[in-house]
Amino acid sequence: MKRRSFLKKSLKTAGVVPVIGASFPAIAKNRYEWRMVTSWPKGLPGLGTGAERLAETITKLSGGRLIIKVYSAGELVPALGVFDAVADGTAQMGHDASYYHLGKTEGSAFFTSFPWGLTANEIQAWVKYGNGQKLWDELYKPFGIRGFLAGNTGTQMLGWFRKEIKSLEDFKGLKFRAPGNQGKILKKLGAVPVILPGGELFTALQSGTIDGAEWVGPYNDLSLGFYQVCKYYYSYGYHEPGAALQLTVNEKAWQSLDNDLRSLIKTVAEATNHDMLAEYNARSGPALKTLVEKHGVKVMALPEEILLECGKAANEVLNEVYENGSYIVREIVQDFLKFRKEVIPWTRISEQAYLNARRLPFDFKLKI
Ligand code: CA
Repeated sequence: MKRRSFLKKSLKTAGVVPVIGASFPAIAKNRYEWRMVTSWPKGLPGLGTGAERLAETITKLSGGRLIIKVYSAGELVPALGVFDAVADGTAQMGHDASYYHLGKTEGSAFFTSFPWGLTANEIQAWVKYGNGQKLWDELYKPFGIRGFLAGNTGTQMLGWFRKEIKSLEDFKGLKFRAPGNQGKILKKLGAVPVILPGGELFTALQSGTIDGAEWVGPYNDLSLGFYQVCKYYYSYGYHEPGAALQLTVNEKAWQSLDNDLRSLIKTVAEATNHDMLAEYNARSGPALKTLVEKHGVKVMALPEEILLECGKAANEVLNEVYENGSYIVREIVQDFLKFRKEVIPWTRISEQAYLNARRLPFDFKLKI
């Protein structure tokens, strides 16, 4: 009797339920139905479709054990309310950009793109093989959520302007949509930064509420029709050299999941990171051609003396973030700078060197 009750007790402790008449204990597989809120208008190319594909892939690969229903901007919560919705459990998952939430923590900027920071390849390297993910987990812990890289737009465009930018004077009083730290940089240079979600930009440009806007790059910007209002399309996208998107998961919901489903979410988020970047790279060339040839858009580069001022302002912003930062924000800034310093010499003699070489007056030409 003693032995039997011990056996019963130990089985119970191990969480295994013995099934009478079965040779092996049955494996209980839980089913989950989750909501994923996003910042994106329904079907928005790249961001919206990428988030939808992520949800579909998890649902499919889990064999229907984890069904994810996607809500576009405003369906369940406002476009910029995704972080709160995941933190308070209104939704178990969210897809947006971490830098929309500087009001929560300034550290969030580094997991989208800090101005003059990391390219798409480099941010992935930092998060996955540097200290990025560990620091990110610590940053989000007090909010009861965790974040994963889940998409990247690649290098963005500086944005759309009604007039040519010839000197710093042209920034004075310019009402320009620029979220995050780019807003702070432009403010230092005399502009008036405005934060608006993507779905509201065209109307704001058309009505004159804003004079110009940055959003993403040719693929997205063509679909939102900004060329109808602004004709000058500027690089350099120093403000978002490789803008990452985040998948956020409510911590309690995460803990309630079976281990294999947690691994599945991580793997699909990583796949989405590659998938979205590939989509942006494939579609941006043809979209740029359409903007220039069909819609008469003028592609411009910010004069270097202005670009340099943007760099100096970015350094001021970084120092403010550091000075006012909590312990973890300071840790992130330090690690970001360390990684950046290590990776730049390598990028310079590898990808950057090749891209420079490609500027030489040579191109392939078939002879027949
Ligand atoms: Ca942007």
